[in-house]
Amino acid sequence: MKTKEVIKRAAAFSEPFRVTKGKKFRLKDVDPGDTLGLKSEDKDKAKEALALGVEVLADLQDKLYAQDKWAVLLIFQAMDAAGKDGAVKHVMSGVNPQGCQVYSFKAPTSEDLDHDYLWRCMKCLPERGRIGIFNRSYYEETLVVRVHPEYLKKQKLPERLITKRIWENRFSDIANFERYLTNNGVAICKFFLHVSKKEQKRRFLERVENPDKNWKFSSADMNERGYWDDYQEAYEDMIRHTATDYAPWYVVPADNKWFTRLVVAAAVIDTMSGLDLAYPEVGPAHMKELAAAKRALLAKK
Ligand code: ATP
Ligand code: MG
Repeated sequence: MKTKEVIKRAAAFSEPFRVTKGKKFRLKDVDPGDTLGLKSEDKDKAKEALALGVEVLADLQDKLYAQDKWAVLLIFQAMDAAGKDGAVKHVMSGVNPQGCQVYSFKAPTSEDLDHDYLWRCMKCLPERGRIGIFNRSYYEETLVVRVHPEYLKKQKLPERLITKRIWENRFSDIANFERYLTNNGVAICKFFLHVSKKEQKRRFLERVENPDKNWKFSSADMNERGYWDDYQEAYEDMIRHTATDYAPWYVVPADNKWFTRLVVAAAVIDTMSGLDLAYPEVGPAHMKELAAAKRALLAKK
């Protein structure tokens, strides 16, 4: 399949899940089991399509790196076991590791807490020419910190700044920060992998029962599952307030991993193909150098 065709299909697979400003977004309108009509018998075809997508992505990344102007920031947020790690692994499997930077954001350290919450993330922003991946991000500041107010208390904020408006302030600060980044050539794509409570249970049980997956299980994840509804509410509010046309959220159905990966790859391809990426043009002086080098190489044994 030609690159153009892959890019066209990428738009068709990502567009239905893109949320931008102005939409009255409701999480319950997105079915975690949605596959856009593809059946599980189509899984192999979906895997083939993903493989093609990965090739196109590798080509786009090569140009991104060579052009050295844009940076791409991919943000992944999800409930536990929704498949963030697998999506990153599969979608980025074809790209040159030199052009890619992945950061996982866990609970902040005491040094992190001595700074504003964007500080630790700013240090990890991708350089021009690179794809940066945030596995969790500053959005945790409106999710886990909102669901567990005790975390907010640990942030050493002056009391008078902790008001009812704190979440709204965080949303607008984040939206402004992302505006700033896009104005500086950082293209942003945000993913919420939307898994159902039922599927999370199935995956947790697999982690408990399968010895090869035991290491993935943590009782902290079980604890967070107890706050399921609070998290869903926090996610919905966050998406409503921070989905913008310059930094859209993709709310990706996550009950079928093969479909999740397809949509994530499609969204990245769709975003990057809109950046007019191209290899830098070689000027006349450089052309002369190339011709001279060729002559010299061919003249000697
Ligand atoms: P996996 O479980 O798939 O390995 P993960 O992203 O869940 O990946 P963990 O080490 O299990 O990684 O969890 C990281 C934890 O850090 C999450 O529970 C997350 O909510 C928490 N965390 C991230 N950012 C913050 C923050 N700013 N404040 C408090 N907790 C945070
Ligand atoms: Mg975890």
